[in-house]
Amino acid sequence: MGRYLVTGGAGFLGSHLAAALCRRGDAVVVLDDLSTGSRERLAACGGGAELVVGSAADRDLVGRLLGGCAGVFHLAASVGVGLLAKRPAAAMANNLATSVVVLEEAAARGVPCLFTSSSEVYGTRARLPLREDAALQLPALSQPRGGYACSKAAGEALALALHRERGFRVVVARLFNVVGPGQSPRYGMVLPRFVQQALRGEPLTVYGDGAQTRCFTRAGDVVACLLRLFALPAASGQVVNVGSDQEVSILALAELVRHATGSPSAVVHRPFAEAYPDLTDVERRVPDLTRLRGLLGSVPSTPIADVVGEVVAMLRTPALVPPQG
Ligand code: UDP
Repeated sequence: MGRYLVTGGAGFLGSHLAAALCRRGDAVVVLDDLSTGSRERLAACGGGAELVVGSAADRDLVGRLLGGCAGVFHLAASVGVGLLAKRPAAAMANNLATSVVVLEEAAARGVPCLFTSSSEVYGTRARLPLREDAALQLPALSQPRGGYACSKAAGEALALALHRERGFRVVVARLFNVVGPGQSPRYGMVLPRFVQQALRGEPLTVYGDGAQTRCFTRAGDVVACLLRLFALPAASGQVVNVGSDQEVSILALAELVRHATGSPSAVVHRPFAEAYPDLTDVERRVPDLTRLRGLLGSVPSTPIADVVGEVVAMLRTPALVPPQG
């Protein structure tokens, strides 16, 4: 049992992680500015998590909260194509500043860290499956996707430099399209959007022909991997893809949602550029999970149809839907 700081712990994935730590009997301090997170998400912690409302870029605050901690999970970030397209400068500045502060303060105090990065760092044209040791080709920095990728890659580089220079214990997890109950449709993520559209009897908006693919990963599966990676000395100083390698097209996802909801909603195709004029879509994204499996042995991988079912069940039951921040 220990005390852990979870930055971004009132967000979608952060609150799943905080709840898992609480279930384990750990004491949890959540630092969240509630920009996209919400207090109500911590209900699953059953009072076991203390929420501190503030910024992970606040050096004094982060330093204070790290005191007595056995570890820090850094998840605070501006995420989602909707948010990136609307406020690219703020998203970029927030992601850079929070990463620098959390990593430096944790390293200075010798508090082990798990840094969450993103599959976005692989850009739009990398060779598949995506391997951690491949040289990165960032997307054009003139578009928000490039800025986001760059901010996460910079955080990774700082984490690794602190590891090399000072023996800082840190794991970098590159996350791949995390989905599950509690994810808001507000910031563009496709699964909650499709489910919401289906339940409202609205058309499901597929961008382009829908042949683009993703490997969706259940939040609970991601959390299980993050906790095990954090505890594993061999993972320190490593960059590790965390996700599933079940590749699914967006059109197939739309069909799964229609099936799970029994919705009469039609699928309509819209040009991606109409929704996000400043962004380029990623055609395929598939992680190489050799490193993750090498470190952890078996890796949980809930079938996407089951995750779709869970998301539908939650959005169907208004009492279970966490209010969106
Ligand atoms: N997408 C879609 N309709 C939507 C939202 C997203 O067809 O209403 C597509 C989007 O073009 C992308 C995929 O779903 O190809 C995944 O989008 P998301 O924003 O969830 O994740 P990301 O693109 O960041 O991987």
